[in-house]
Amino acid sequence: MGIVTAISGAAYIVASLLFILSLAGLSKHESSRSGLTYGIVGMGIALVATIAMVLDHVYNPTDEQKADLPDLTWVLIVLLVGAIVVGAVIGLWKARVVEMTGMPELIALLHSFVGLAAVLIGWNGAIGGFDASGVENPQDLGALTNIHEAEIAIGIFIGAVTLTGSIVANLKLSAKMKSAPLMLPGKNFINLGSLVVFVILTGFYVAMDTHANTTPAYILLAVITALALFLGWHLVASIGGGDMPVVISMLNSYSGWAAAASGFLLGNDLLIVTGALVGSSGAYLSYIMCKAMNRSFISVIAGGFGIEAGPADDTDYGEHREIQADAAAELLADAKSVIITPGYGMAVAQAQYPVADLTAKLRAKGVDVRFGIHPVAGRLPGHMNVLLAEAKVPYDIVMELDEINDDFDETDVVLVIGANDTVNPAAAEDPGSPIAGMPVLEVWNAKDVIVFKRSMAAGYAGVQNPLFFRDNTQMLFGDAKNRVEDIIAAL
Ligand code: NDP
Repeated sequence: MGIVTAISGAAYIVASLLFILSLAGLSKHESSRSGLTYGIVGMGIALVATIAMVLDHVYNPTDEQKADLPDLTWVLIVLLVGAIVVGAVIGLWKARVVEMTGMPELIALLHSFVGLAAVLIGWNGAIGGFDASGVENPQDLGALTNIHEAEIAIGIFIGAVTLTGSIVANLKLSAKMKSAPLMLPGKNFINLGSLVVFVILTGFYVAMDTHANTTPAYILLAVITALALFLGWHLVASIGGGDMPVVISMLNSYSGWAAAASGFLLGNDLLIVTGALVGSSGAYLSYIMCKAMNRSFISVIAGGFGIEAGPADDTDYGEHREIQADAAAELLADAKSVIITPGYGMAVAQAQYPVADLTAKLRAKGVDVRFGIHPVAGRLPGHMNVLLAEAKVPYDIVMELDEINDDFDETDVVLVIGANDTVNPAAAEDPGSPIAGMPVLEVWNAKDVIVFKRSMAAGYAGVQNPLFFRDNTQMLFGDAKNRVEDIIAAL
């Protein structure tokens, strides 16, 4: 082993440790900044170590590698530098221009890249044989040959499911595709059947003499790829809007396993460790999200297994009442306790800054103001916490659903700022609702509820909200930022 490979191996261990510290840091508000820094430093070290190893292979190739890379050295270097520059420019540009509300769809797109990379690496392993897939001496593999071939099929499968699944998630999150679940007849059979067919085809692929890179082996691998691309599309298309948070964390997890599978193929320890970290933390996050939404984990990862579409809602909920900003300001000025429940609309309106001002003003008048945060409010896990932290709302008045849900009946005024599904009483009261069973913030138990939104439109899950028609609810129409500023002015 050369000196560069040895140092890079050590750098990989340091990078892995930094990634673990990063995950630990990101799990709490207070330490999230240092968590992010650990992640950036870890990724920097990993990149430098990987580039150093590639350059070492190019400049100091073993005899075997020399035979592989005759006069291609400069081409490789140009490709490598080109890939880094193009990737870095696109990444920096996207990160600068993306709106906070566009973050979930960007993340879904980034997951699709991991999936695509895993598919390409898998195919590279199949076409290039052992040398191209990081295994330098096939003879050493012996009985492990079959495992290596299984890695190729599994890597391609997970990668392709992640690729199309993430593209559908991106389209659903950016509203380019309907968020309602696709209900193909026999959808559970399709999902389960695809999985069984994949296992059988992989068995055939492993049993084949794939060293010879025969056409039948390629055809089999192409069928596996097509099947996985279809399954990824169908799994995510079958899941309704309300369950999308779990899908996102699930795709995050899949992208980790796809990276780990690529790591096995390339013989790259860091990819295996990092992929496993992302895969398992994403799986755990999906589990937490499922618990928060009272959904079965298995049902959601199986593409909404067992969830059937409810009947169309044509209920007449009656009339809603409206309120203006100055009357809302009066209600707030007279209140002793106020709870603010923000949702996706606060992110769209970028209303967190005036909301923070309003909070400070009310607290200065002696009003007890707290925030009630639903675990899936917004479009990202922790979306509302990030926005409120950005606007410097003190952490100690920001409560989780469980911590605050029993306090609404002792609350004078609740301000529902751009939230809809997460405060929908149908989840608790209508067993036929698509969001039935999902715990929601029980804002309707407060004395007065003011809902900030622009129209009577439904929330992300596409379900009408009976809260808007309750006797103690008043609608404050318009952009949430403008309306909160109007209230501040009136106060
Ligand atoms: P919803 O998405 O249900 O509703 C947001 C509301 O905000 C809309 O009804 C909209 O009404 C209003 N709104 C939009 N823009 C503005 C604006 N500028 N000013 C005022 N109001 C505005 O919000 P919730 O946060 O309650 O629920 C989140 C939903 O997203 C859940 O269904 C959840 O499952 C899903 N989801 C969550 C993810 C997560 O990880 N957190 C990921 C993916 C999906 P109008 O148009 O009338 O203004």
